[in-house]
This record gives sequence, structure tokens and C-alpha cells, in this order.
Amino acid sequence: MYIPYGRQWIDEDDIQAVVETLRSDYLTTGPKVEEFERSVADYLGAKYAVAVSNGTAALHVACLAAGIGEGDEVITSPITFVASANCALYCGATPVFADINPDTYNIDPEEIRRKITPKTKAIIPVHFTGQPCAMDEIHAIAKEYNLIVIEDACHALGADYKGQKIGTLSDMTVLSFHPVKHITTGEGGMIMTENEELYERLKLFRTHGITRKPSQLEQCDGPWYYEQQVLGYNYRITDIQCALGISQMKKLDAFVARRREIAARYDQAFGAMEGIKVPFQAEGCHNSWHLYVIQVLDKNRKEVFDSLIERNIGVNVHYIPVHTQPYYRAHGYAEVVCPNAELVYSRFISLPMYAKLSEEEQDYVIEQVKSLI
Ligand SMILES: *Cc1c(COP(=O)(O)O)cnc(C)c1O
Repeated sequence: MYIPYGRQWIDEDDIQAVVETLRSDYLTTGPKVEEFERSVADYLGAKYAVAVSNGTAALHVACLAAGIGEGDEVITSPITFVASANCALYCGATPVFADINPDTYNIDPEEIRRKITPKTKAIIPVHFTGQPCAMDEIHAIAKEYNLIVIEDACHALGADYKGQKIGTLSDMTVLSFHPVKHITTGEGGMIMTENEELYERLKLFRTHGITRKPSQLEQCDGPWYYEQQVLGYNYRITDIQCALGISQMKKLDAFVARRREIAARYDQAFGAMEGIKVPFQAEGCHNSWHLYVIQVLDKNRKEVFDSLIERNIGVNVHYIPVHTQPYYRAHGYAEVVCPNAELVYSRFISLPMYAKLSEEEQDYVIEQVKSLI
């Protein structure tokens, strides 16, 4: 028996949905793409959604739609997957890392303020583990300095902030449907927005910068006519993937509820232990628990980690602070320090967290962690 840190939950009806699409007229862009976009948008109460090939592509097109380019600075968290910062580099812009709050592990609004320069164009807050960032404070800063906010909500599908679902709060919100995330399409991503102009630009960048929409064309030579108006990409998602996504969306509430149960059981098991710091619960927020991350306070993190792996528990560490990656060090970030991010990184372990984790499996994880701390 091997217990991974995360994995998908696929039922027979998910498989049937994919098979039906394989028998249909459309393998790629067909009716399933819009149906999937609609199902996620309706769930979140969002106006517009654009589905793309993965979460990283979603971040990239969001930056492009926001007009981020050469000379711009984009502030994000160091405790995230590299894609949250790489998307700025793809556009020729410069990622700037603002340190995290040591309790929530999310980007600290005061640190954002300290990093603002006349070149700052956007903030990409990351809802680490599914815990919403301090969005009111971040929006206040964005308003003051006229910045765009693109939420990286790849961990936070189903989370809510002060009674509102993550997905409608900012200019754009990005999701991923990688198999370890709340729902999966194999590979897939989506951008939510309330802004029609951004919606049109997102669609343009998704497909080579090409439009066929009569109202957008500069001229029209005939029914075959289309125009490439900007430099876009092929970031399309397939109908096959979206059929899986539509089927998975029906289970999202159950998946999130199960993740919350698992988190509560871990909290119960470790909350009183001196050697472990369990995740912090921010006021008014409802985490959707993509990850369950503990800090190992007294013991050597690597020894605990290695022992858990030896016992067939697929623990992981999220994340190595992005500015310390060799690529970033070699490209101007060698002197950057984010003390809070670097400290928690040295103590973090991500425990198994996925809807299909059984109580017996979780009991085994708890027992083994307790025996090592
Ligand atoms: C998963 C993830 C991404 C990228 O998503 P992909 O679909 O794997 O490209 C971006 N940011 C964060 C925080 C993620 O967890």
C-alpha cells in the first residue's frame, strides 16, 4: 500500500462521459467547452469563464489579457508553484516576490506595499493550500495604485472569502484541473472574469490571436474570413477533457466536503502537539484544502520526511521558494530574501490530502506522523 499526497477521483460515470465524447462529432473545441465553462462559472457565480489547456496557460493568457508586458513588474508570493511567477516572465515582465505572512502562509499585504514601484502593473495573490488571501487589503492596495489583480486560485476551487466564493472577487481568477487539484480534466485550466472586455481578450489569446466575430473584424472579405489581431497561442482545451470536467463538477461539493473532513481530523490529531504547527484558520474564510501542510518545529524535517516515505506515505513539500530556484538565482534574484518563506519552507511537509483518502489510510498517516514527532 502506498498513500500519495494527492490524487484524482474518477468514477464510472466520468469514464462514460469521456467515451460518449469520443463517439461524438467533436474531439476538440465543440459544445463541451462552453458547457464546462458554464458549469464552473455558474457554480462560482461568475459572469464569464474561458477554459484553456492547463493552469499555467490560464495564468499566461490572463497576464496577456491584462496587458502585462516588457518593463512591467508583477508582485506575487514566493510560496507557490513556479508557474505563478513564470507567467510574468513569459510576457517579458519582471516577477517581484513579496514575503508571506508566517501564520497564513499567504502573501502579506504590507509586504506587497513595500514592493510597489512605478513599474508595478499587477498583483498575483496565490491562495496557498486553498486558504483565501487577505483580499480586502489586496484590493485596497490595487485600487490605490491602479493595479490589476489576477488571483491564482489553482488551490482554491470551492473556497470562500467572507461569504463569497473565490472566483468573482478580482479582475481575473485562475483555476487548474491537474489530477491533484479539486476536480480534474487530466490537464486543464480556466480563467474567470466579470469583465466582458477581458473575456474577449482571453478568448483571442487562447486561439492564436484569431477572431471570426463580425463585430471585432476590421474588414470582412467573405464567410471564410478571420483576422489575427494579436500574437496568441494554441491553448485550446479539448471536448474530451471538458466532458470529464463537466462530470467532475457534479461532485465538487462532495469532494470539498470530504477534504474539509480530512483537514478537521488532522487538526484534531495534531492540534495539541508541541512539535507540529497545524494550518491557521483565517477569520471569515473557508479553506477548500487542496493541501494539508504541517510545520515540523523541533525535529529535523528531512528525517521525518524520509521516514514517512519509507513507511509508504507519499508526503511532499510545497513549495521551494520560487526566488531560490536556480533559474531565478541566475536571472537577478540571487540577492532576494524572503525570510518568512524561507523559514516555513525548511519546516513544511504536505500530508496526504485528497477526497478518496480513506479513514483507515488517514489513521495510518496520523499514527506514523505521531510516532516520528
Ligand atoms: C497547479 C498550479 C498551477 C499550474 O497549473 P497546471 O494546470 O499544472 O499548469 C499554478 N499555480 C499553482 C499555485 C498551482 O498549484
